[in-house]
Amino acid sequence: MSAPAIDLRAVETVALSIPLAEPLPTSFGVMDARSTLLVGLTDADGRVGWGEVWCNFPTFGALHRARLVQRIVGPLLVEAPSVDPWTIGATLSSRLATLALQTGEFGPLAQVIGGLEMAVWDLAGQVAGEPCYRLLGGLEGRVPAYASGINPTDPAATVRASQAEGYRAFKLKVGFGRERDLANAAAVAGALRPGECFMVDANQAWDAATATAMSEALREHRPVWLEEPLPADAPAADWQRVAGAGLPVAAGENMRGLPAFQAGLEEGWLAVAQPDAGKWGGLAGGLEVARLAFAAGRRFCPHHLGGAVGLHAAAHLLAAAGGDGVLEIDSNDNALRTELVGPLPALQDGCFVLPERPGLGVAPDPAVIDAYRVPT
Ligand SMILES: [Mg+2]
Repeated sequence: MSAPAIDLRAVETVALSIPLAEPLPTSFGVMDARSTLLVGLTDADGRVGWGEVWCNFPTFGALHRARLVQRIVGPLLVEAPSVDPWTIGATLSSRLATLALQTGEFGPLAQVIGGLEMAVWDLAGQVAGEPCYRLLGGLEGRVPAYASGINPTDPAATVRASQAEGYRAFKLKVGFGRERDLANAAAVAGALRPGECFMVDANQAWDAATATAMSEALREHRPVWLEEPLPADAPAADWQRVAGAGLPVAAGENMRGLPAFQAGLEEGWLAVAQPDAGKWGGLAGGLEVARLAFAAGRRFCPHHLGGAVGLHAAAHLLAAAGGDGVLEIDSNDNALRTELVGPLPALQDGCFVLPERPGLGVAPDPAVIDAYRVPT
């Protein structure tokens, strides 16, 4: 579907951070705060569109990305006579390609472009009077969801709490040692009710030999995918070796650029493509990945682990893509997810239901911004 071109007049950044009383362990480090960076774009008619830039680790990373928005990327949008949501992400990426090489800031620039692209889509939906998923070609604003980020301390209790919230699929963090990982996988598998399933996420923790052995050992518990068993830049032969061990391999949150996804699909090891719109590609780039994945007969399940604006963007992306994907929803406490745009709707039959409002359909609550804002 065509989308309206947008005339942008102003860009703002809102960095939010909530220190964690109980720091969150991951295989790449301990998260001591939940943080995010919102970007707001104002159009010529005074509408405001919102996007979310990935910055969950390190937790002070929002501040640097806010400056990239304010001083480098935002002005390019405001100076442009009009912005097309379908192409703006790719246009900005090519415009800033040399700067990314010069500075080595490939990730932060891609994340900033992704978040700003989301905000452009929010505005385009508001102008068109359509929810983003529909403007992006989707038919139904309802997607199956799973409880993500289940950490290695008593994961079965987290599964039970998530079941009580209506979840039917769950993703366990692994990468904490073979014995503990296998015991946790057994505990999660044992907590499942008929029709439910779980996945495991190693967050790039293993080498090829460990990942292959873990895939073989985890198979008896029947996780539906093994996520990031290897570093994102591991050679194709390593990915193929791990994929050959039996469990479908998922990856994408640390892959940048369409060629990276294309390669994983063509090399045969990428069974579940998981781009994060706020890390690379925005919504239009994510949808391109979905098309490639479906053409190769693979699954598309966008990644998100941040605040409520990015969560809604991921849901719109998945609803636009169609297919048999599931929406990632963090199971850990994070007011930036549960309070920022008002309470999230209860799941219906295990599905997240998008608001039938124009654009992303959500706006951050000024009171929540005031409570958690950090100066940029
Ligand atoms: Mg992951």
